[in-house]
Amino acid sequence: MTADSPARAGVDRIADLWGERTPHDKGTVWPARVDLHLDAGVGAGDVDRWVHSACLLCSNGCGLDIAVKDDRMVGVRGRSTDVINHGRLGPKGLYGSTPWASSPDRLTRPLIRRDGRLVETDWPTAMGQIVEKSKELLASKGPLSHGFYTSGQLFLEEYYALAVIGKAGIGTPHMDGNTRLCTATAAAAFKESFGADGQPGSYTDIEHCDAIFLFGHNMAETQTVLWARILDRTRGQDPPKIVCVDPRRTPVAAEAERTGGVHLAVQVGTNLALMNGLTRELFVNGWIDEDWIDAHTLGVAELRRKVEPYTADQVAGICGIDPDDLRRAARIFGESDSILSTVLQGFYQSHQATAASVAVNNLHLLRGMIGRPGAGILQMNGQPTAQNNRECGADGDLPGFRNWDNKEHVQELADLWNVDAMTIPHWAPPTNAMQLFGYAKDGTIGLLWISATNPAVSMPESARIRKILAGDQCFVVVQDLFLTETAQLADVVLPAAGWGEKTGTFTNVSRTVHLSDKAVDPPGEARTDLDIFLMYADAMDFQNLDGGPLIGWRTPEQAFDAWRQASAGRPVDYTGLSYDKLRGPTGIAWPVNEQAPEGTDRLYTDPIFPTATEQCETYGHDLLTGGAVTEQEHRAMAPAGRALLKGCEYTPAHEQPTQEFPLLFTTGRTVYQFHTRTKTRRSRSLNEAAPDAWVEINPEDAERYRIAEGDLVRVESPRGAIEVPARIGQVMAGAVFAPFHYGTFDLDQLNSAGSLRQANELTMTIWDPVSKQPYFKTAACRISKVRGGDGPSSAPTTAASAPAASDAAVPPTQGGQVTTSRLVPTPEYPNDPAQGTAGPSPTATVAGES
Ligand code: SF4
Repeated sequence: MTADSPARAGVDRIADLWGERTPHDKGTVWPARVDLHLDAGVGAGDVDRWVHSACLLCSNGCGLDIAVKDDRMVGVRGRSTDVINHGRLGPKGLYGSTPWASSPDRLTRPLIRRDGRLVETDWPTAMGQIVEKSKELLASKGPLSHGFYTSGQLFLEEYYALAVIGKAGIGTPHMDGNTRLCTATAAAAFKESFGADGQPGSYTDIEHCDAIFLFGHNMAETQTVLWARILDRTRGQDPPKIVCVDPRRTPVAAEAERTGGVHLAVQVGTNLALMNGLTRELFVNGWIDEDWIDAHTLGVAELRRKVEPYTADQVAGICGIDPDDLRRAARIFGESDSILSTVLQGFYQSHQATAASVAVNNLHLLRGMIGRPGAGILQMNGQPTAQNNRECGADGDLPGFRNWDNKEHVQELADLWNVDAMTIPHWAPPTNAMQLFGYAKDGTIGLLWISATNPAVSMPESARIRKILAGDQCFVVVQDLFLTETAQLADVVLPAAGWGEKTGTFTNVSRTVHLSDKAVDPPGEARTDLDIFLMYADAMDFQNLDGGPLIGWRTPEQAFDAWRQASAGRPVDYTGLSYDKLRGPTGIAWPVNEQAPEGTDRLYTDPIFPTATEQCETYGHDLLTGGAVTEQEHRAMAPAGRALLKGCEYTPAHEQPTQEFPLLFTTGRTVYQFHTRTKTRRSRSLNEAAPDAWVEINPEDAERYRIAEGDLVRVESPRGAIEVPARIGQVMAGAVFAPFHYGTFDLDQLNSAGSLRQANELTMTIWDPVSKQPYFKTAACRISKVRGGDGPSSAPTTAASAPAASDAAVPPTQGGQVTTSRLVPTPEYPNDPAQGTAGPSPTATVAGES
């Protein structure tokens, strides 16, 4: 069978989110299945060429090829040989990857603000304005006048260029990305427990584990292909038990019930209390590996002392759960031979984020449950290239997971870039996004450069952010694909090329690096983000100590090679990778070097952790207060390769329900839209499936407030309000859930309630003391009916947004587009411990396929 052989048409992956099951047994290879989607009227034989890439619509990073016809991207096909997805693609990847590129509202020329209006101009004029402002601020106020706020969606080469410009060209600590809203806690939890960022686990752990714990992670909607991989285990022989921690009854929660696992629907804001209770259960029941703990960790006695007060009954009272459910979950963790844990925004964006996420690491360390097949931790990312932002230091950290507080690490970079070490900001921790916007508000930052992100919709407390961006105190540059809500407030807007219109690499949540080749030209005068950053560096004439250009590289491949050098000898070692190697059948997981030329599926198999004082990325923090551990204190601990067990007491969330605001407000992601919909809004299939905002309330609350499905409701917090239709759904009683995707850019095209639909109008300017990640999941609110609706809300009828007590899935129209899904022979997957023991026969057909 060839890649282009006939396949079964008409598969609707809007209704059937995870595709048909290919169940297989524990320890066998996940079968391959190729998912393909082409635009209406395009058949596989019509495609001019297929271009090597990977999906850029979530952190899973599914390997795919882009279909090109007549120099347009017309579809995508999963790559069966890729270790990440074995050929599968989910709804966002299938339907959202390419339509945005030919959207008529793409930015094609630079814009500058004149007399209050954005008008088209040419590149020399737009860049000239930026450079003039930049030079003026450097001369009058110095480097701290500059701030850079970037994304989780650029390519590695672009982040590295931006990091060099910010740290060695300008010399500002004011750099961060929207990764602060998304994955900062994953990085912080790794650093606190293991000494440096870097995902310990592997997706192949799914094939080998006996239990899967999903902490605040609705994987079924956020990483649909990864969830399909889990479903193929839970529907096979010897399935793993699922344990779900989530205040909503998500598909993950339903699967937990089905597999004899547990759904812990904890009260919003109480994650750490639950984690302390689970940890205590491991101690009191003797479900710990004392020899392993003694040999490979520090801090067990202090951790035991910290969790001692958190009895199951006490915790159940705090979290609003049955104490026996907690005990059952702890027993599953305590008695399973191999456990995979995944963590995402339900923990990262909630109260005591880092402490709760570190507690997941603690559970694994207490059982020595790390570094072997099936025993893994996946502190997930949300965005596709968030990992690269963290690796390259565009988020303010130093490139290569170097420690800003370690003078030798700073000197290594100074030598690499041939600059004075004092140019590189290292006198204080890097500025986080929340501070960065605060400085922009005050005008301390006079130039704020925003690339590939939409803070006017995604940052908390929207009204505050709009005011900051629109004010005269700060000159705002935005580079993006579209005139987003943020771009509309900018002083200069630069048109950028997107995925498929440029070449570069990116790394998924499991450290797997993919190369994405350029498939088509960008529209009009749009330029790649790398070209834009290099254009600025040239115009600013940034120089090294020898008077040569600070950045000598020009092409993406040269930038990648420069990054390889920067990563040498660090945990995130890319030295064994090249563009040629990445054009092979699969992505490759770092470190890739002389010791591991084919990559590294799983970290800490030794198990030696990068905690030595000379090596670590941070000396650590007190998890309650964020107080920093000093170098001397760290040296005195002498972790020397041992992981750190760290505990923290639970405290109630900052904003509690009151008489005036009696409900809890929580936001989140849903299956058909990605972030602020810049791309997914322009896919007809995805947008028809979730066209407008909604809020979800529980049937009990609906009755109390006399609200029916589809009624227009007003939800208010002390900071703002939204008015959107209600879905009587599956969120826990006492809580209101709102998707955060919906801004205002397309309101004129919608029959909407008006502009009051942005979930972040209600959220708070408050953040975690360690990771500095803002809290989007805890706020108090009230709800009232504005008027009756004229039918059900347009909220999705699938997954966690389905109406209460309904499993119905009503498929929206596919508009004649061709989506196919077919099994193929299971290829060899490097590093997969189950290789040689494939799942079902590679030539088997899925149910219903003839
Ligand atoms: S799971 Fe994520 S990476 Fe894979 S196809 Fe879906 S959106 Fe793309």
